[in-house]
Amino acid sequence: MAQEKLLLIPGPSPVVPRILDALALPTVSHVGPDMARDLKESCENLKRIAFSAEGEPFIVAGAGTLSMEMALLNTAGPADRVLVLSQGYFGDRMAQICQAFGIDHDVLACEWGRAVTPRELDQRLKTKNYNIVVCTHVDTATGACAPVEEYGQVLEKAGAVFIVDGVCATGGIPERMDAWGIDVVLTAAQKCLGTPPGLAILVLSELAMEKRRSLASVPAYYSDLLRWLPIMHDPAKYFSTPCVNEIRAFAEATRIVLEEGIEERFERHDLHAEAIRAGLDALGFSFFTDLRFAASTLSVVNYPDGLEDKAFRAGLAANGVIVAGGLGPTAGRVFRMGHMGNLTSAQVRFAIEAVEKTLAGLGLAVAAGAGRDAVDAILAA
Ligand code: PMP
Repeated sequence: MAQEKLLLIPGPSPVVPRILDALALPTVSHVGPDMARDLKESCENLKRIAFSAEGEPFIVAGAGTLSMEMALLNTAGPADRVLVLSQGYFGDRMAQICQAFGIDHDVLACEWGRAVTPRELDQRLKTKNYNIVVCTHVDTATGACAPVEEYGQVLEKAGAVFIVDGVCATGGIPERMDAWGIDVVLTAAQKCLGTPPGLAILVLSELAMEKRRSLASVPAYYSDLLRWLPIMHDPAKYFSTPCVNEIRAFAEATRIVLEEGIEERFERHDLHAEAIRAGLDALGFSFFTDLRFAASTLSVVNYPDGLEDKAFRAGLAANGVIVAGGLGPTAGRVFRMGHMGNLTSAQVRFAIEAVEKTLAGLGLAVAAGAGRDAVDAILAA
């Protein structure tokens, strides 16, 4: 088998052996007691991770895009108008989903690298009524983190259903559903939660569930959350076969989150983000994201003159680390390094050392050990 490389793309994140071992357990009946235990525990743990005391969790085979679609289809009826706050690629995807299903919507967008401000949201709400507001917590294309708590404060007055795309955030940075007035957190398994891709995950508040129940029907069958609700309450019931192994692995992933401590996990994400950025800065890189909005889950890094995207990423891969290129208009101009999930400090050091080695290999002058020293200064503090 080829030597395993450190996967630092902005999701999927590296999967630790405990989770891989759970994935490899024998497949069991989807309506039997093992599955029931793991699904129920996953749901309970998920509520704790999303800080929702009374929410309804849903864990369904699919990916983040399915959870985006499920969130919209189960809340937006023909009489509703949706406001999509977009700081980039994945906010625009929300608008595309609205378009695909004929959901009445407007987009409030900002330039890539920052997020829509609470003030901009407030001003928009003064000009037009919206029943539903959707935002992307961290846009994985731009690295910008939205001020979700402050959006929640603005929306409290408006009474709208508040949907947050946490695909690149949930379990890595705070998403306090109850305290921040979030009605839907939608997410996926493969990023901050450290499970292989394959799950669409949502938690809905009571208000969001009421909204679904108020809709006579939704233009969906598999995505209709009311078809899944009985299974989430009693996994011995059948609607559509859940992905048994993936859910068992996800249960293990949520145990790991809670064993670490959710607040400690957030702190580790902040620390690793700071260390990686200090290391990259010491190696002469600058950042695409306005640093006031920079997310702790990934870094979007500008190439300096003379450093070519494909050569850099191929060199870095040869040194053991995989990063992603830019999406959309940033393609070729930036690389994206994920630092989320169950990453260790040793892996952070290894990554920056690999960047340093790659630059030296490409003939770029870097002071030996500069990246590593900068990382260590943060990690040791
Ligand atoms: N939202 C965000 C913020 C994402 O980063 C992604 C995936 N990169 C998605 C949605 C879509 O998720 P998936 O690729 O699992 O469908």
